[in-house]
Amino acid sequence: MNCPKCKNPIEDNATVCEWCGATIVNNITPQFHPFIVEKSFIMIIEGVFSIVGRGTIVIGCIEKGIVRIGDELNIIANNTVLHKTKCIGIEKFRKQLKSAEAGNNVGILLQEVSKKDIAIGMIVTN
Ligand SMILES: [Zn+2]
Repeated sequence: MNCPKCKNPIEDNATVCEWCGATIVNNITPQFHPFIVEKSFIMIIEGVFSIVGRGTIVIGCIEKGIVRIGDELNIIANNTVLHKTKCIGIEKFRKQLKSAEAGNNVGILLQEVSKKDIAIGMIVTN
């Protein structure tokens, strides 16, 4: 697989990227853990931002399925649900969307999750 931060190739079982030092979580792509495979919506988090007055936005490319505003979502790391949250907004190139699907690069606005609780490489599922 490749480092989610610097995109350089890393070993399958690496926990730290030897190129940029990033901590690697969910080092399970391209083969997802069965716990994750059975989810109908999957996005690997490639970036996270906090927007004052709005909340936390995670960005990434949707791997599988569809996400819609109002969907209940889970933030997963190392096959464990860390946070339960809700999709309260979807953005693509600053345009507001009602839904997004596999292959789309989007930002998902999450309810009541702090930026500090989210790391690159974590997974958003339904
Ligand atoms: Zn790296």
